[in-house]
Amino acid sequence: MKITKIESYILLVPDLIENATSSSQDNLVVFVHTDEGITGIGETDTGPYIAKAVIDSNGSHTMAMGMKDLLIGMDPFDTTAIWEKLYTYTMMSGRRGAVICAMGAIDMALWDIKGKALGLPVYKLLGGSNKEHIVPYASLQPHGNTVAEYRDSLVRWAKEAKDYGFTAAKMECTLNGPYNHSGLIGTDEDLTEIITACREAVGPDFTMMVDVQYLWYDAKTALRTISKWEDLDIFFLETPLAIDNLEGYSILSREAPMRIAAGEWQNTRFEFLDLMDNGKIDVAQPDIGRVGGITEAMRVCHIAQDRGRLIVPHCWKTGIGIAASAHVAAVTPNCPFIEYLPAHLCDSLLRAELTEEPLVMENGKLRLPEKPGLGITINEDAFERYLVK
Ligand SMILES: [Mg+2]
Repeated sequence: MKITKIESYILLVPDLIENATSSSQDNLVVFVHTDEGITGIGETDTGPYIAKAVIDSNGSHTMAMGMKDLLIGMDPFDTTAIWEKLYTYTMMSGRRGAVICAMGAIDMALWDIKGKALGLPVYKLLGGSNKEHIVPYASLQPHGNTVAEYRDSLVRWAKEAKDYGFTAAKMECTLNGPYNHSGLIGTDEDLTEIITACREAVGPDFTMMVDVQYLWYDAKTALRTISKWEDLDIFFLETPLAIDNLEGYSILSREAPMRIAAGEWQNTRFEFLDLMDNGKIDVAQPDIGRVGGITEAMRVCHIAQDRGRLIVPHCWKTGIGIAASAHVAAVTPNCPFIEYLPAHLCDSLLRAELTEEPLVMENGKLRLPEKPGLGITINEDAFERYLVK
């Protein structure tokens, strides 16, 4: 089988808010076509205009190639060889960032092709699963103009997620820091009050994560607050510090009363090696598109397994990325949860509508995806509606 054509499309929600920190408003969807009529689908979570240029652009010398030219004529079954080729011949412009994100979308599509060609779900090609199901956690993002409104909104979401059947949810509490775009600023005491209210709302028999989205500048300031949270039984605390503050992460991983999680932005296993070996994080959160695709995500899972750490994939895109997360989670014994939100609980219509619901949730659990490839179907109407022409 040979790759004959790569198409990449930028999708945007119609009511785009450019000053909102919300990557569910956009998408880069990649189709990889073959001479046997099988097409693979992938997506990535980065600036879609930049990632599209990475795929479509001409090369100017051997280490600054565009991806299209590197891919045409390759056998889509050669996922490891293709990864290495794309990584090597984009080195002067790539190695990290949007180039790796674009590689992630392409790699996802290649695995989709392999599964479709063999009539097997991707997780079978990755080695199969001992799991009967995958456990999803819901990411909850509150709204509000005051701290009290914000708290009440998050409490409402938490109750709704529990009522829907979730056994785990992540409270996104962004009262300051780079992700804060609402204008609402809260103190560390407000944060503790909000998280305490959420724990009271869901009760003790519910797994609760907290994401403060790079809130604190240094580990000691973070510890003044989170060292008081032991009784709140937080499963993990996500991105408490700026992501390049590896020394700070290592202090928190040693001294905080809960697991420390990070990695949603990281590209390649090399950045995860840094986070795990220098930042000492407990939970690695590769986003399958951003890390460099399923091929690279599996390497990160193995690195974490070697070190006795957990994997909980990040996913804030559509059913395409959610499916990729599910296949990786199915074969990864040290992966207790995936990030997942059913379509009707999504704020972003693009996220909710782009694919038919790829996974079935029953009693708070997801059945293993059994359709060939990633097992997703694009909703053509939604695709046309959100396509940037
Ligand atoms: Mg996050």
